[in-house]
Amino acid sequence: METINTKCLIIGSGPAGYTAAIYASRANLSPILYEGIQPGGQLTTTTDVENFPGYPEGVTGPQLMDDLRKQAERFGADIRTGMATSVDFNKRPLEVIINNHDIIHADTVIIATGASAKYLGLEDETKYSGMGVSACATCDGFFYRKKIVAVVGGGDTACEEALYLSTLAEKVYLIVRKDYLRASKVMQRRVHEKDNIIILFNTNTEGLYGDEVVEGAHLVEHIGTPRELHYDLPIDGFFLAIGHHPNTEVFKPFIATDEAGFIVLPGNTTATNVPGVFAAGDVADPRYRQAVSAAGMGCRAAIDAERYLMEQ
Ligand code: NDP
Repeated sequence: METINTKCLIIGSGPAGYTAAIYASRANLSPILYEGIQPGGQLTTTTDVENFPGYPEGVTGPQLMDDLRKQAERFGADIRTGMATSVDFNKRPLEVIINNHDIIHADTVIIATGASAKYLGLEDETKYSGMGVSACATCDGFFYRKKIVAVVGGGDTACEEALYLSTLAEKVYLIVRKDYLRASKVMQRRVHEKDNIIILFNTNTEGLYGDEVVEGAHLVEHIGTPRELHYDLPIDGFFLAIGHHPNTEVFKPFIATDEAGFIVLPGNTTATNVPGVFAAGDVADPRYRQAVSAAGMGCRAAIDAERYLMEQ
């Protein structure tokens, strides 16, 4: 067991965490950043990022995260592998346990743990996990070349996943529970332009079937109306793209969150309800959830941490 002291501990390695590390390093806080379960965060599972300023031709998610990591390392950020498994924010310095083993004593903590993919909550999602069920088209799409897949959701993520899969799979069904797509207009247009993407509006998934691997989905159209129709759709892959939930469980005994679990920031800064603890990125942002807004919050959190330390 190791005990490490730091002025600034950053938990999470998405755009918020890395940007906080860049700013905190340049402010001589010698930050330690723990990358968490998915180094680079959600963007490592996305394809092209076209809306991050500074990349006129776009950039892949993994490349963007690699660039941010290198930029943080250039200024001396100590980037480590590991997860925060428990915290005690009543203690001073603040205490964070990594991998149930190492103890970090930190004067400030920046929480940038992001959000994770949501599932529908069907038993079959667990039953067929890795056997046809996935929440990451970029990670698993390759296995469905020339096959038939379905993507659940009607937002930008679902459209993005469907577009990506349409370049590999023979046919992509987009299962949308409402009668419209919530995605941005540009994404909607791209989806409509693809001949091999078929949108199933007003449709919910009741279950999956197949011997060992997914062979199809039990669907219901117009649920709860006189037009309710149950049918089976043969598919090889079932991709979830219905949003994300914030990764805040470990902090909840101390940090105030809203009903959905997002960290509440009571003022106009990134300060949480616990002095010395700040939050940045999707974990504290149910509204914008963009790479660039997360990076902006990471910058603010590092500046807030620096000012907090100066005031102490
Ligand atoms: P959203 O919350 O925007 O959309 C979630 C979608 O999943 C909605 O269509 C929702 O349906 C549907 N859904 C939610 N729960 C269920 C359920 N239980 N059963 C069936 N369908 C369900 O999440 P996204 O991940 O798509 O996007 C999050 C944010 O990230 C957005 O701000 C988006 O713009 C942004 N983003 C931007 C991208 C880009 O610019 N390249 C790429 C990806 C995301 P309903 O509409 O009925 O609620």
